[in-house]
Amino acid sequence: MAEDCIFCKIISGAFNTEFVYENEYAVVFNDINPKAPIHMLVVPKVHVESLNELEDKKLMGELMQTVKDVTKKIGLKSYKTLINTGKEAGQEVFHLHIHILGK
Ligand code: 5GP
Ligand code: ZN
Repeated sequence: MAEDCIFCKIISGAFNTEFVYENEYAVVFNDINPKAPIHMLVVPKVHVESLNELEDKKLMGELMQTVKDVTKKIGLKSYKTLINTGKEAGQEVFHLHIHILGK
């Protein structure tokens, strides 16, 4: 856990954020400022700043499996996934996450 990381705080339960889905590797919660009717974030439980810092290849497989599992759970068959890496690409929270955007 990184002390000044908002997503680490959410994972630790500091804000009582409702998780749409959770497994051993990740939590999934709704984006606070949704850019689509359905906008969820898949967030690994370990603090990794961005895709550039990710060394654990297996973890990315688990995160993509989490995308499949949570979309199946809520019956969302069609969706986009997005990862912003780096400030210039629009990354605002420096804890790796996958956006899921759907209608
Ligand atoms: P990024 O731009 O880093 O790829 O995406 C960060 C996302 O996290 C943004 O879409 C933003 O709305 C969302 N976000 C930032 N702070 C919070 C928060 O405290 N709670 C939730 N649920 N989402 C957040
Ligand atoms: Zn973090």
